[in-house]
Amino acid sequence: MIEKVDDVKLYINGEFVDASDGQTFENINPFTNETTNLVAKGTESDIEKAVEAAEEAFEHGPWGSMKLKERMKYIERIADLIEEEAESIAYLESLDSGLPISQTRKMAARGAENFRFYSRMVQARMHGDAYQVDDEFINYTVYQPLGVVGLITPWNAPFMLLTWKVAPALATGNTVVLKPAELSPLSANILANVIQKAELPKGVFNVVHGFGETAGESLVKHPTVKAISFTGETTTGKRIIKNSADSLKKTSMELGGKSPLIVFEDADFDQALDAAVWGIFSFNGERCTANSRVFVQKNIREKFTNALKERVQNIVIGAPMNNETELGPLIDQGHFKKVTGYIELAKEEGCEIFQGTVPPELTTGNYVPPTLLLNAKNDMKVCQEEIFGPVMAVIEFEKEEEVIEMANDVEYGLAGYVWTNDIKRAHRVAQAVDSGMIWVNSQNVRDLRIPFGGMKASGIGREGGHFAIFEFYTEPKAIHVAIGNHHIPQFGKGK
Ligand code: NAD
Repeated sequence: MIEKVDDVKLYINGEFVDASDGQTFENINPFTNETTNLVAKGTESDIEKAVEAAEEAFEHGPWGSMKLKERMKYIERIADLIEEEAESIAYLESLDSGLPISQTRKMAARGAENFRFYSRMVQARMHGDAYQVDDEFINYTVYQPLGVVGLITPWNAPFMLLTWKVAPALATGNTVVLKPAELSPLSANILANVIQKAELPKGVFNVVHGFGETAGESLVKHPTVKAISFTGETTTGKRIIKNSADSLKKTSMELGGKSPLIVFEDADFDQALDAAVWGIFSFNGERCTANSRVFVQKNIREKFTNALKERVQNIVIGAPMNNETELGPLIDQGHFKKVTGYIELAKEEGCEIFQGTVPPELTTGNYVPPTLLLNAKNDMKVCQEEIFGPVMAVIEFEKEEEVIEMANDVEYGLAGYVWTNDIKRAHRVAQAVDSGMIWVNSQNVRDLRIPFGGMKASGIGREGGHFAIFEFYTEPKAIHVAIGNHHIPQFGKGK
């Protein structure tokens, strides 16, 4: 479809530009491990320019003072343009990340919906409250944008995740500097193109590509940037919080996971099976909310494991651009080594390994077959650490209390899934599992209105729905007004 992909530049103050020192890095295709194109390697000085442009646009440009309806026209125009370009977004996203195209098509559609949703949400919900205090005062709150916000995103669902942050940030009236993941830079520039076509005022949206330790850290430490919304690994999140301390930034942390899926013996077997397989092997297993630990009750463990084995053998492993592909190559060779290293570790820790087969013609990509770690124990390293690949540990349990204890005996707390037809138990377990989100008898479907985020090492704060607006991208201001006479202590008047 697209023969050659253009080199990727930075997008600063409404223009595509090279890095200030002209340096670039190679963007590698996960399917061929060949260079797709070159990417401008942003520096501290590029971050400086992008922040300056964003500050100017917020303080003196039309964006900060624009009427809400007019701003929302821009937001909706972005959604329209994303929809028009959805097929090429899906294509470039698959090319860049190795995700199967049937899945990136859905992500592109969701990207457009993120903008539409926040246009509606801000118009309907971005209002303050009024507090009447007898006949003396009226106090009220207004929600105001923060100013320049920094957004730092990962490579696992790049377009969907960056629209998920850019949409509420812009809709609430902030200006943005985005630092996308270095391993998947293409879709950030598609958004920059869309935003240029939508004719947003210059400086409102800026993209600085580059590495975390340089471009990322400069953005985090910049004193003008009011807040950082970050999605990525827990260790990176900790570093960002430390680095943002000197400038007292607001941070939002969407971090790693090791989520449990619990199947009780009375569950709807076939649906639980579908959900367990989809939940770990979609997105190539590179999914923050993946059910990487599956707990199966003793009486159905053997039957469920056999059914899992059959599914795993039949998962379609193929080229990302192939419509039928269910599992594609991992993002890069470094990640491939990490994931295969964990499979080796699982053997050493005593798991039985069961895998699908990578077709022999797929010789160049970073393919890890769908993998089951059977007879796993929850205290094994492979059950405690985030592998972030198509690898699912299967752990047997007998009693409800035992499985709750194991589900919670982990550093993370992002998502959880409970399968049972006992309504009391379903709610009991859902409330007992320590995680930001729990699905009961359901796969990971998400209404955009609900809060998204994790507890424990999986994150701090919630985005999504009105939570992104009120908890992160705006500041509430309380305004106190006297409407009658009230007593004011009179110091310095003598007796
Ligand atoms: P990562 O932490 O390596 O990188 C994420 C981003 O942070 C990249 O843009 C990177 O350049 C930047 N970065 C790295 N070091 C930095 C630093 N010192 N300062 C500023 N920026 C820095 O994560 P990844 O490998 O790209 O993504 C995978 C991780 O993301 C997994 O742990 C996954 O669970 C997590 N994730 C979480 C969610 C969620 O919502 N909770 C969603 C998707 C992915």
